[in-house]
Amino acid sequence: MMNKEEIAPHVKEIARVLEGKVKEQDIEKDLDNYLNVYRMSLEASKRHIVRKYGGDPNSLTKGERKLLSQLGLSEQSVDLLVRVMSSAAREVVVSGSPKTILSGIMADENGSTVKFTVWDVSKADLKAGENYLIRYAYTKEWNGQPEVHLGNRAVVELRPQDEVKVPEGVTVPEVGGYSAPIVAKVSELRENMNNVTLTARILTMKSREVETPTGKKAMFAGIMADETGKVEFTAWHDFALKEGEVVTITNAYVKGWKGIPRLSFGEKAQVTRPKIKFPGEQELSQASKKTIAEMERSGGAADVVVHGTVVDIKKGTGLIFRCPECNRVVQKGVCQVHGKVHQVPDLRIKVVVDNGSSAMTAVMKKDVTESLTGVTLKEALDEARETMDPEFVGRRFEEILLAKPVELRGSVISDDYGLSMNVSEAKIVFLDVRTEAEALLNKIEVNL
Ligand SMILES: [Zn+2]
Repeated sequence: MMNKEEIAPHVKEIARVLEGKVKEQDIEKDLDNYLNVYRMSLEASKRHIVRKYGGDPNSLTKGERKLLSQLGLSEQSVDLLVRVMSSAAREVVVSGSPKTILSGIMADENGSTVKFTVWDVSKADLKAGENYLIRYAYTKEWNGQPEVHLGNRAVVELRPQDEVKVPEGVTVPEVGGYSAPIVAKVSELRENMNNVTLTARILTMKSREVETPTGKKAMFAGIMADETGKVEFTAWHDFALKEGEVVTITNAYVKGWKGIPRLSFGEKAQVTRPKIKFPGEQELSQASKKTIAEMERSGGAADVVVHGTVVDIKKGTGLIFRCPECNRVVQKGVCQVHGKVHQVPDLRIKVVVDNGSSAMTAVMKKDVTESLTGVTLKEALDEARETMDPEFVGRRFEEILLAKPVELRGSVISDDYGLSMNVSEAKIVFLDVRTEAEALLNKIEVNL
């Protein structure tokens, strides 16, 4: 939810693009509606409103509020709400004349830290210990990580002390970056760790070219694993990595996406090939079993197996219809963005899975839904037609799934609504009653 105060600068910007043709209070009403009722993204809402009143959406600045952990390596225009942790002036020579710039470290409420440089000190005299809303910043790659730059377009606003609370224990790296090395297993990796040493086997890897400000660059991305789990990785330097080999990487760092950690390493990292006994590719390719409570602690993970019982079937389960343009679920053939559309049928399951101590949401797309329920999309459409009831399929899924123990495989992310698994494989577990009973008896005996 964005409140009135947060919406205000965007209302002003839309009014500017529409050249005062529309009253600010009308824009505010629209924007509030799209954001908080339809839950469209800020950028999409702004573009939509401008278009609606006959303006050119491309006149909007592309600035988008991001967390430091979400920053890409070449953001063109980004807004940040941060606390400046350190800031020091430096003399540099630009185009033959001396110039004072600032550089230091900024942090946000998640405890992420990023290096920054201010190129126009008259626009942004950032001071350590103060909070700022920075608009129209950009990023450049520095040692495989984003560095925030404030150029002459930057707009900086001093914000109250209580607006950004950096978690305790956040260590501020010296500019140049150093923190004590951490030797970790895959399951111990957490967003924003620096100077990590990890030993793992590379399961898959692909290289691709990316554009950077200094030209084209090859990067290598894939999945590596140890006995505690799998992690996606990105190498920003060619270490001649090969699929199947076991490597020890030192001086890597961890970025995250919605709680799923990703290991990154660049030129400053070292890669060695230890001669050690290590689990084989086949064993490591299995999804590792995790409890929902373990997921809560780590915040998410790639490719895991979770057991639990289906305790609730959520709205939007069964036969649904999507907009062919934006893939949103449509109601009665009407997309909230594109209006009346030729809706496309689809199957989906959204359930809450509980293992007795913790719960998560699980979302299954068509293929997984079909194989779990044995009901194909075609059969679902036939049934809906025969019964003249589009909700019929959802109720059938409820009958099949409610209160059933399930085994789910997929990646788990965390957001404002808690843990959520994007399920890649699902099955109902038919418990072996005798084994279960014996296990229970053993437990009782131990307790006695
Ligand atoms: Zn649409």
